[in-house]
Amino acid sequence: MQPLQFIDSHCHLDLPIFDSDRESVLNRCRELGVSHIVVPGVTALQWDNLLNICREHDSLYPAIGIHPLFIESDTVTEDLKVMNFLLNNSLTHNYSIVAIGEVGLDGTEKLSHKISLQQKIFIAQLKIAEEHNLPLILHIRKAHQTAIEILKHNSNHGGVVHAFSGSLEQALEYIKLGFKIGVGGTISRVNAKKLRRTICNIPLESITLETDSPDLAPLWAKDERNSPHHIPKIAEVVAEIRGDNLERVATQTTENAKTIFNIKL
Ligand SMILES: [Zn+2]
Repeated sequence: MQPLQFIDSHCHLDLPIFDSDRESVLNRCRELGVSHIVVPGVTALQWDNLLNICREHDSLYPAIGIHPLFIESDTVTEDLKVMNFLLNNSLTHNYSIVAIGEVGLDGTEKLSHKISLQQKIFIAQLKIAEEHNLPLILHIRKAHQTAIEILKHNSNHGGVVHAFSGSLEQALEYIKLGFKIGVGGTISRVNAKKLRRTICNIPLESITLETDSPDLAPLWAKDERNSPHHIPKIAEVVAEIRGDNLERVATQTTENAKTIFNIKL
């Protein structure tokens, strides 16, 4: 029997915390069937290193974005120009950017001037994604309704709502707008009732699996650095909650991530 294949659709494997053992993390993933990993960007300072690391590893697929909590008002205009430059020069520099992300809105930061800047930069990045025909990796916390309104009024190619934290109704709205719902280790927490209910009530065709490593470790590894090798076990939890079989969850979520990020292999 062919081993099951999985994709981690959100993993910060470029961060220095993985510098000492990135190869062994990737080897372990390979053994467990985690064959592709999407590595999103959070700040312009980190994009070059992220692209270099992805260029060196066939299984890593880069995304670049400015995370809502890492917007630097002094440099953001220049950062957006750099983003365009990197997208325009991907062929000559031998990398293929699969998405714009992570981008979005984070309402846990209460300062209203920051919220309006977040919205402005979110829309600017939506436009860049649209110009380059790329999907989005969304980071949305405590701002789902606003994000949904923005997406309805700005054309986009869909993508993934990473570490989804909204209601079932909001999940269904995102799905209608062409988004997949990103599910990670948080699902393993027994008190994640709302999320579990959502996962049971949306089609498997709308779910992607992710770890957000090194953060958001699942319950069984809660004091450890999170790692993409946990994806098969996250798939098991999703299968169990939904009453689905693991093979179907693995096959469909992998297919979903391949379709969204245009991964051919
Ligand atoms: Zn992330």
